[in-house]
Amino acid sequence: MHVLLVEPEYYSTYPPLGLLKLSAYHKLKGDTTELVKGCKFPRKKPNRVYVTSLWTWAWKPVWQAVKFYKRFGVEVWLGGLYASLLPDHAAKSGADRIYTGLFREAEDLMPDYSLVPEWDGSIVFSSRGCNGCCPFCAVPLLEGRLNSAKRSIRHLVYPGHTRIIFWDNNILQNPYWREIFEELKDLDLKVDFNQGLDASLITEEVAFRLAELRLDSGKGIKVRLAYDTKEKGSSVRRAIEYLNKAGIRGRAIMVYTLFNFRDTPQDFFERVRDVLNWGAVCYPMWYQPVTLPFALEKNSYVSPNWTREELEQVQRARRVMGYMGAFPPHSGLLKKFNEARNFQEAFRLRPLRTKNRTKKDGRK
Ligand code: SF4
Repeated sequence: MHVLLVEPEYYSTYPPLGLLKLSAYHKLKGDTTELVKGCKFPRKKPNRVYVTSLWTWAWKPVWQAVKFYKRFGVEVWLGGLYASLLPDHAAKSGADRIYTGLFREAEDLMPDYSLVPEWDGSIVFSSRGCNGCCPFCAVPLLEGRLNSAKRSIRHLVYPGHTRIIFWDNNILQNPYWREIFEELKDLDLKVDFNQGLDASLITEEVAFRLAELRLDSGKGIKVRLAYDTKEKGSSVRRAIEYLNKAGIRGRAIMVYTLFNFRDTPQDFFERVRDVLNWGAVCYPMWYQPVTLPFALEKNSYVSPNWTREELEQVQRARRVMGYMGAFPPHSGLLKKFNEARNFQEAFRLRPLRTKNRTKKDGRK
């Protein structure tokens, strides 16, 4: 049969991995496949349509795609992140079948990268699930506790690709992480631990072994960590020290700093200040619940400890004082945060002087 794989018209940096795996699965069965973006007429009439989905707030283009492809009179399956997190809402799209969770039969197959010839990175899961139980995280809901761990990922690296992108939720929980790191050294390709590394699991040995790899997460970043609550401060600080000692400098470490969850603006300000003082790059992460109704609209949730104005203040500061949405630890920013007594002082932007005002005041 001919299988049509549809990635709805939303923005994504990465190719639709689930669809590429489905393509590999169907080709093994002797079927033909075709990948399209958005609502387009396929080259050949399909016998089945798979529509994928991503962020819950990007549900509208998913519904549009389902509606469009229903016209072919064949089964339309809807899977992916949004369908797995909000299956009842996804069912209202009109899809014939909602597929939640992973398609296990395709899990260990090489994705069909021939459908995205311009793409140069192999996306790999060496493990699934996570034993953490962070209350803001969707991973325990989606994948549960650590439930699979590979000893080798070599068979998932596509010939000609220049980098390996790990989508593991917590790769350092994989009991075979040493074997995987050895393999990465041997493969000698760029490595991106895309979902970040668990700071509490970064020991001197881990840091040393990381420094042996060709780490490259883009824009000069080599390692991503997370500083979600004040309690995690000591492990984040220690991880940064170990990484520095192993030769990974602070500016190559990005620390995701959650806000708008159970924290307060003051708590968030102190964590941002910590990260800058530890010499790393701070990337604020706006908490968004994966439950209704907030899941359907990006940045729609305001926690009881924050106001909409304070949240917007963070976003403005990121645009004006930050670089690409992050706060690098440069001396000006460090001074501002170290001199500030509270959130308001740290995130307040100085009014811009206009040309006219400068002339009138006789100042430069
Ligand atoms: S350690 Fe990471 S992946 Fe695991 S539950 Fe916490 S935030 Fe989620």
